[in-house]
Amino acid sequence: MELIDRVKKILEKYEICNECLGRQFHDILPRIKNREKGKILRTYAIINSIYKKEEIKIKKTEKCYLCGNIFNKIDFYIEEVKKKLKNYEYKTFLIGSKIPPELISKEEEFWEENGVDFCEAIKSSFNREVGYNLKRMTKKQITFENPDIMAIVDIEKNKVDLQISPLYIKGGYKKNTTKGKVQKIIENLLIKKTGASESIFYSVGRLERNVKTNCYRPFVIMLRNPKKRRIGLKKTRQEINKMKSLSVSTLSYSDKESIEKMKMEKITASYLVTLKFDNNLKKEEIKRIRKKLLGLRNKRILQYLKKKIRKPYIRRLKIKIGGKNLTLDIESTVGFSINSFLGGKSKPNLKKLIERDFKIKEIVLKKYRKMKTHEMYS
Ligand SMILES: [Zn+2]
Repeated sequence: MELIDRVKKILEKYEICNECLGRQFHDILPRIKNREKGKILRTYAIINSIYKKEEIKIKKTEKCYLCGNIFNKIDFYIEEVKKKLKNYEYKTFLIGSKIPPELISKEEEFWEENGVDFCEAIKSSFNREVGYNLKRMTKKQITFENPDIMAIVDIEKNKVDLQISPLYIKGGYKKNTTKGKVQKIIENLLIKKTGASESIFYSVGRLERNVKTNCYRPFVIMLRNPKKRRIGLKKTRQEINKMKSLSVSTLSYSDKESIEKMKMEKITASYLVTLKFDNNLKKEEIKRIRKKLLGLRNKRILQYLKKKIRKPYIRRLKIKIGGKNLTLDIESTVGFSINSFLGGKSKPNLKKLIERDFKIKEIVLKKYRKMKTHEMYS
C-alpha cells in the first residue's frame, strides 16, 4: 500500500495526535521528530486529496485514541521528574515509565490493522521524549546500564518514582580500641555525608569486640538512596583519622562487584594473643602445654557461632611460653572466632587443652593473607 493511503486510512478511522501519527512512521527518517512528521503527513494527506479531487474525512482530535493525550502533557511529566531529581546528586540517569495496560493493548490492535514496520512503541517514544528533554535541561548523561538514578513515570497514578543506585565506598580500617565495633563510626559518618537512608557493611571474616588490629581490615560500605555521590573522600578520611579509636586507609568509590570479589577471596587471619597465668609455670607444665598446643597445627576447630557450626582451620601456630606468660601467634582461615577458641566454646578449646586458668591480656589481629591455591586443598 502507498504511504499516502496508509496515512489516509488512519486519519479517517482514528482520532490520532500528530505525535502518535508520526511515530507510526518513526523509522523513516528518524531524525525528524514524531510530532513534526505527524504534522507533515497530515497536511500532505489533505493536500493530496484536494489535488486528486478526492474526499477526505479526517477525524477531529480531541482525545488521541492511542495515547490519551499523554504526549500533550510531556512538559508536565518532565517538570515532575525534575522536581523529584532536584534533591539528588547524579551524573547519569534513565527514564522509565508505566504505561496503562489499556493503551498498550490498543496499540497492539492498531498495529495488526495498520502495520508495525516503521513504528516506535508508545513506551519508547515517551521515555525518549522525557529523557532527551531532561538531558538537554540538566546536562546529565543518559545511561542504560547502571544509571545513578532511574526515574519511572507512572502515568495512571500520575506520579514519579525514583530508583537510586546504591553508592559503594571501599577502604580498610584499623581498630585501636577494645570497646565496641568501630565500623559503625565509619558507617554513620558516610550516611551523614551522603544523606543515604541506610548502610550495609561488608568485610572479611570476623573482628570481635576485644580484638585490636595492627593491619587494615578491608571493607566495602554500601549506601542506599544516597543524595550525594561525591563527598570528598580525602577529607572524609582525614576526619575519621582524627579519632583515636580507629584509622582508615585510602578510601575510594567502588561497585557491587567488589563485594562479590571480596567474598570469593580465600583469606587467612593471623592473631597475636597474649595470655597471663596467676603464677609461674613449672618446667613440666610448659612442656605439656607446648606439646598440646603444637598438636593444633593444621587442625580444624569446631565452633558454634550464631547457631551455626563452623570449622575454621588453624594453618600456622607459634608459641612463646615462660614465666607467667603465654603468647600465641596463630593463623586461621577467616570466620575463626578467637574468643570462642580461648574461652571454651570450641572443640578443642584452649581452656580445656591446657587445663589452667588464664587472663587475656591482649588480642591483636596482625594481618590478613591471601591463601595460595595449593593451600586451599591441602
Ligand atoms: Zn497520541
